[in-house]
Amino acid sequence: MKKIPAVLHLDIDAFFAAVEVQLNPGLRGKPVIVGGLGHERGVVCTASYEARRFGVHSGMALRTARNRCPQAVFLRGRHRLYCQISEKFFACLRRFSPQVEEVSIDEAYVDLSGSRYLSPSLIERAEAVKAAAERETGLAISAGLASSRLGAKLASEAAKPGGFCRLEDEEEFIASLAVDRIPGVGPQTAFILQGLGVSRVSDLQRRYPSLWKKIFAGHDDSRQPLGERRAAKSPSFSRETTFPSDISDRELIAAHLAYLTDRLAVHLATEQLFAGRLEVKVRFSDFSTFGKRTALPFPTFAHAELFRAVAALLPGLLERKRLPLRLVGVKVEDLSQERDILPFFSLRGESLTRGLADVKERYGFSAILTGRERLLEDLYPMEREGLVLKTASLTK
Ligand SMILES: [Mg+2]
Repeated sequence: MKKIPAVLHLDIDAFFAAVEVQLNPGLRGKPVIVGGLGHERGVVCTASYEARRFGVHSGMALRTARNRCPQAVFLRGRHRLYCQISEKFFACLRRFSPQVEEVSIDEAYVDLSGSRYLSPSLIERAEAVKAAAERETGLAISAGLASSRLGAKLASEAAKPGGFCRLEDEEEFIASLAVDRIPGVGPQTAFILQGLGVSRVSDLQRRYPSLWKKIFAGHDDSRQPLGERRAAKSPSFSRETTFPSDISDRELIAAHLAYLTDRLAVHLATEQLFAGRLEVKVRFSDFSTFGKRTALPFPTFAHAELFRAVAALLPGLLERKRLPLRLVGVKVEDLSQERDILPFFSLRGESLTRGLADVKERYGFSAILTGRERLLEDLYPMEREGLVLKTASLTK
């Protein structure tokens, strides 16, 4: 049976930069970079399309951005204002469907399946949502309609900037893509797959169907909002900690997450368990809490692989509010004792983690720590079995 396309993905184009241009029309048509001034430390949050033409993209160091595009207008940004507009955006979407999933500050999935009998055409309905959101925020929004989240996200990407795209032959379209076009397949995974002769999604589907299923499922059920998720059926392990005082230094935040991830990795290695998914949680100083999950490219317990996922999720979470953090946590789930797919993927990382776990078991957890984790030595007393965190809590 053909699936009814009912997932709409909406993404505000160059969000922060677009807001700045809206408030100051003199900036229209100019390269605008939000994130900080050109000489400051820090990274680009958003670059306008004009700036992107010079090779500037989000996540890039501000100084690199200035080298590439010296004529750009650099702005520090007004986070509270962006949050207000983001709230307007989500509120508008919620009028059209009870099922709205906020993915990030400027991105959401809207499930239109409940409304398919209300309207003559789902496409009209989707276009109406996009038009209303654009009217109410005053910003250009790209929208994609498909029967899966992955399809909808790819469609809205194809629609950028400002367009609407409906995937006609969704399965065929996705199968035809190069694997690195799939969000969640990083350059490293794509490189390894390339070496195996897998360059298109169709190759992946044919040769490693269970790996593809994982990647696809990672998009389709891992992004539900925290409160509304179905009760977890599979066991999970998590480690979290509240800081002695609120922290805004990114390096220090990453150091805490590296340490918590290390504890999880050693635990998994000892238990001989592979994690399929990982979630990072942050709590800001105003107690608002956000979580973001991702499917790991393959089940693993390798510290380096787990931390790679943590590091990829963190920037999006920190973007939610411009406030210091009071707590961070990491959770691994989808645990399995065996895995049938591409075990050689991570053999090195895993034998390293297993070796470290052995050393830690014999000489104490603190016997070997990474450089990043050692940043925490100034903050906490170090004992044989690890750092003495303010609150170390283990959840089920
Ligand atoms: Mg966007």
